[in-house]
Amino acid sequence: MAARLLDGAAVAQQIRASVAPRSAEFAKKAGRPPGLAIVLVGDDPASEIYVRNKLKSAGEESLRAELERLPATASLEELLAVVERLNRSDVHDGILVQSPLPAAMGEDAERRVFDLIDPSKDVDGLHPTNVGRLVQNRAWLVSCTPAGVIELLDQSGVTMAGSRAVVIGRSDIVGKPMALLLLHRNATVTVCHSKTADLPQIAAEADILVAAIGRPAFVTRDFVRPGATVVDIGTTQVSDRAVVERLFPPESKRRAAFDRRGSIVVGDVHPDAAEVAGAITPVPGGVGPLTIAMLLKNTIAAAEARLTSGARRP
Ligand code: NAP
Repeated sequence: MAARLLDGAAVAQQIRASVAPRSAEFAKKAGRPPGLAIVLVGDDPASEIYVRNKLKSAGEESLRAELERLPATASLEELLAVVERLNRSDVHDGILVQSPLPAAMGEDAERRVFDLIDPSKDVDGLHPTNVGRLVQNRAWLVSCTPAGVIELLDQSGVTMAGSRAVVIGRSDIVGKPMALLLLHRNATVTVCHSKTADLPQIAAEADILVAAIGRPAFVTRDFVRPGATVVDIGTTQVSDRAVVERLFPPESKRRAAFDRRGSIVVGDVHPDAAEVAGAITPVPGGVGPLTIAMLLKNTIAAAEARLTSGARRP
């Protein structure tokens, strides 16, 4: 039997609907809309799309979102100076620096940038203070994608307490916060990565299986326990026709989309896994819209906190 589709777009819409009145209320009290600054360095095509979507969505919920653009040739010092200026700004409640940064900025560039962002404006939840608070289960700014997944599981009636959860991927922005959030919801959590032995067997023990790897269709049906809930966070742009033809049947919507555009986004989970899973998130339309909705929610939360207690530090 085909798995139930978990409708991330619908849950994202609900979250956004709760942001709009809070934005209006904030604007009434503060005399300005909540402000989000997005910093984009270079011209990575995928980042351009993500940033455009974030700016558009923020505008739709009455937030004032501004793009700060730096050329790919910008130095790390220039980027740090922009972050310092935004930290001091009275009209920017949230700061998001889009990753990845250009490789020329150096290996530790992202860490240095995230370390510098004022934790009370850190709407990506990547500052060590916010990560520490997450570990202690008292975070109020949490990485958007995993926070969105928890909302989706809640809204979809998926029981986390007592469940066995497996997260594949251990990045700072997705895998690790995902694992911590599931742990705080009383799941028993295993984190897998590229060095994990017997990965399919471990995955197949999960009641809730989360894939955050960035390898198209890596999670095949043998990774999935029958009836499990599968969350596909991965998004990889695939332009190889042979790969698309292997994954999607000729008359499918995905093939049609590929024929139109010459590339499509493919998740980490193989389409066949839907025949085994009990519930599954689609790609696209699953986790992606939730990430943006949670960014807006974090921004309004940061704005409200600054309004009620000055430039509050967490
Ligand atoms: P990342 O930083 O590249 O991390 C990937 C993780 O996957 C690493 O922990 C890596 O293990 C693990 N991995 C890679 N190959 C593996 C393999 N063969 N077997 C097991 N584990 C493997 O990526 P990320 O930022 O976490 O993002 C993951 C995916 O989610 C990407 O496709 C990204 O585009 C997508 N994403 C989507 C959204 C959304 O809104 N839908 C948001 C964020 C990210 P090691 O640590 O051992 O290297």
